[in-house]
Amino acid sequence: MAHSNGEHTAADGEAPSVPRSLAPARKVALITGITGQDGSYLTELLLSKGYEVHGLIRRSSNFNTQRLDHIYHDPHAVPSTPRPPMRLHYADLSDSSSLRRALDAIQPDEVYNLAAQSHVAVSFEIPDYTADVTATGALRLLEAVRLSRKPIRYYQAGSSEMFGSTPPPQSEDTPFHPREAYGLFACNGVLFNHESPRRGENFVTRKITRAVGRIKVGLQTKVFLGNLTAARDWGFAGDYVEAMWLMLQQDQPGDYVVATEESHTVEEFLQAAFGYAGLDWKDHVVIDKKYFRPTEVDSLKGDSSKARRKLKWKPKVGFQQLVEMMVDHDIELANKEKVLVDAGYRDPKQQP
Ligand code: GDP
Repeated sequence: MAHSNGEHTAADGEAPSVPRSLAPARKVALITGITGQDGSYLTELLLSKGYEVHGLIRRSSNFNTQRLDHIYHDPHAVPSTPRPPMRLHYADLSDSSSLRRALDAIQPDEVYNLAAQSHVAVSFEIPDYTADVTATGALRLLEAVRLSRKPIRYYQAGSSEMFGSTPPPQSEDTPFHPREAYGLFACNGVLFNHESPRRGENFVTRKITRAVGRIKVGLQTKVFLGNLTAARDWGFAGDYVEAMWLMLQQDQPGDYVVATEESHTVEEFLQAAFGYAGLDWKDHVVIDKKYFRPTEVDSLKGDSSKARRKLKWKPKVGFQQLVEMMVDHDIELANKEKVLVDAGYRDPKQQP
């Protein structure tokens, strides 16, 4: 949604564009965190499967719906095009009544809770807020699901960070218990790191590929990073949202680890990304203590055999392909930035 038309994105009391009575088989999904990386990919997937998709967004003074721009259709556009069955509503995981109201109005069949303060380093800076939104927020939403008149299938975005210092490979054997007491269909997806060209720019993969793009076109020369020895199991977000959907289509709810089962260090990512662009990372990377964490998870490598067996899921995009997809995208983005810089519309020192 471009700034000019963002006002049309929020709940405005209109009926969804496709009347439900005409499409009785259409499933309704509600996504929290719809403006994020995974939310945008999941929206595309569910729309392609014929769902009506609703998203909850928080009020912010800046528009933050860029990742959905390509899905949104301005109702005032000429010539007018059919509106996709996607609607956004204002609500907040810190506000129980807003969640109850949203569920009442939308009556979803499936709820995907992807909203969170998801950045690990930032969680050390704002711990209360992180716990409130990520933990208590899930509880508030589960309460609203439990009190709903209609049975709802619930997906919770878990995190591979929950394994802490458990030695790899990590699997579902680490006990997680969704709220079994009320017989809810609640699944916990423990997704290992998943990246894409839409990844937030302060996660290490995107920070690196943004830097590669900008270095390649001459907009910067250095990138400042922390611990290069940390290893992560990095997959493609587009593959991972498919696993979320599959979880809610099973006969029984369950917890699933979603991972590529391959682990690479930050240094290996640097090698792959700079190498693909014909650059040597050692010429450009500077270590800055500021980016080291108070506690670090040294190594993550998932065991996703349960998801592969039961959901028949497996990742389609491998490590090298993921790196190349991100670098290609960010070189193109840097080229566009360069046009603005060369024309004097953008400060060359302004970094992402
Ligand atoms: P996380 O696994 O959810 O914390 O995802 P991140 O992409 O934020 O971090 C992945 C790893 O990269 C962690 O082990 C970080 O310590 C490491 N890392 C090294 N330098 C940086 C940096 O400059 N920024 C971030 N975000 N992570 C870094």
